[in-house]
Amino acid sequence: MPYQRVLLKLSGEALGDPQTGHGLDTDAVKRVAAQVAHVASLGVQVALVCGGGNILRGAQFSELGTNRASADYMGMLGTVINGVALSEAIEAAGAPTRLMTALEIREVAEPFVRRRALRHLERGRVVILGGGTGNPFFTTDTAAALRASELSCEVLLKATKVDGVYTADPKLDPSAERLPRLTYMQVLERGLKVMDGTAITLCMERGLRILVFDLFREGNIERAIRGENLGTLIQA
Ligand code: UDP
Repeated sequence: MPYQRVLLKLSGEALGDPQTGHGLDTDAVKRVAAQVAHVASLGVQVALVCGGGNILRGAQFSELGTNRASADYMGMLGTVINGVALSEAIEAAGAPTRLMTALEIREVAEPFVRRRALRHLERGRVVILGGGTGNPFFTTDTAAALRASELSCEVLLKATKVDGVYTADPKLDPSAERLPRLTYMQVLERGLKVMDGTAITLCMERGLRILVFDLFREGNIERAIRGENLGTLIQA
């Protein structure tokens, strides 16, 4: 395996209703969980950051009148709900897990402590990281870049609905081509909507490579970890 320790970033949408991306769809959660448990069974250490967009996005919700910071805390709590669901489903699929959160909710999860997270990974537990960075005005993409850096992950696997970054929207333009490789600067300069700028910048500073790939094709997490030519690899 080219990668021994990976950080997998899942958007909340991946766990939601397949049509709307909202709420929690038990089949969607089970499918993702089965893929994660399988790669863990191959001996790969997996840290997983889950988004919360299926429940609430702070920026959108604050437009209705709620203070932005409060709305962001609501969003972070949503990621914890997703984390509990993933933890249960991954364990049901056969891999041990620990849910660690950036906001303390001790009855539900362990607080995130870097060295403890490393210990869990070394012992083969899938570490699910909820609560984003614990700070409003950030995203779970930035949390993924931050935790991947802290936990010395070799790659940030950014799971999406599309197999990588394309020259145009492949759903609208049949001549759109997949870009197998990009540099961080190309992503920033072209304003490509891979991850937000804070997350990309942090990855660039740390030299952390990002693989953008399609989560919904069965077995793709394993293919990504095996280093197969899929998606878009972003590096210096
Ligand atoms: N959030 C936050 N700080 C963080 C991470 C997340 O405030 O460090 C909030 C923010 O409101 C965000 C929501 O949690 O909209 C859900 O996270 P995100 O939008 O990144 O989820 P995804 O799009 O990956 O499902």
